[in-house]
Amino acid sequence: MRILVISDIHANLTALQAVLADAGEVDETWCLGDVIGYGPDPNEVVERLRSLPDLTCMLGNHDVAVLGQMDFAVFNTEARRSLLWQKKALSPANLAYLESLPQETLVRQTVSLAHGSPRDPVWEYILNTLVARLNFGAFETDYCLVGHSHVQCVFHLDAVQNRVVLEIPKLDEPYVLKPRSILNPGSVGQPRDRDPRASYVIYDDVQHTWTARRAAYDIAEVQRRIRAAGLCHSDLSVQNGTIPLPTPIVFRFLGKRCPRLRRQVVARK
Ligand code: ZN
Repeated sequence: MRILVISDIHANLTALQAVLADAGEVDETWCLGDVIGYGPDPNEVVERLRSLPDLTCMLGNHDVAVLGQMDFAVFNTEARRSLLWQKKALSPANLAYLESLPQETLVRQTVSLAHGSPRDPVWEYILNTLVARLNFGAFETDYCLVGHSHVQCVFHLDAVQNRVVLEIPKLDEPYVLKPRSILNPGSVGQPRDRDPRASYVIYDDVQHTWTARRAAYDIAEVQRRIRAAGLCHSDLSVQNGTIPLPTPIVFRFLGKRCPRLRRQVVARK
């Protein structure tokens, strides 16, 4: 079966459409949460997702917040601004749909699905091998798919060497899955790993492969619509994301190249 794995769409319909077009025909779609937040198209994204056949969708921390189950104060300024706007903009039917989504770790075949991590499905970021290591005891399947960090990567538990290894699969090359691993497809609507194209993965559960992919879309057009809605005043946060936590991976990927992001990361330590 060919499964489209997506996460962190963040109300960016243009990016979602680019992914769906680029992925082609799939048997199922698994979405790991954060359908809304940040972007200008909350209703359109929820409706497009709902129209997909064979969709499994998790609840993310932004989705939880817009449902009123979490204080907006825990979010950074731009995330908070967009959540306030989206809470008013979302239709009752779309809010009810979000409310129906699971926030606990879900098991499909030999795979667990969570937004953040298997031990703290809504909130924890798996950003380094130490946190990954602590999470291997929190799920029993061969693989656990997570989103939340917006970084496309794989953490593999090497049982022989007794250590966790971070791997970044090459784009468009089927990566042969090795039990046990924690895998992240990256973010559709707001990647934070130096490649602003929409990030996603095709998982083949017969061949046991994980193919990391990127879909180009008109980022400037989405930035214009975000600004027009009064949701954001920095292109950077649209393109590469506002950093919610100081993170070794994100810092390594982004911080050295971008003084503004480095300042944000240091300021939040
Ligand atoms: Zn997110």
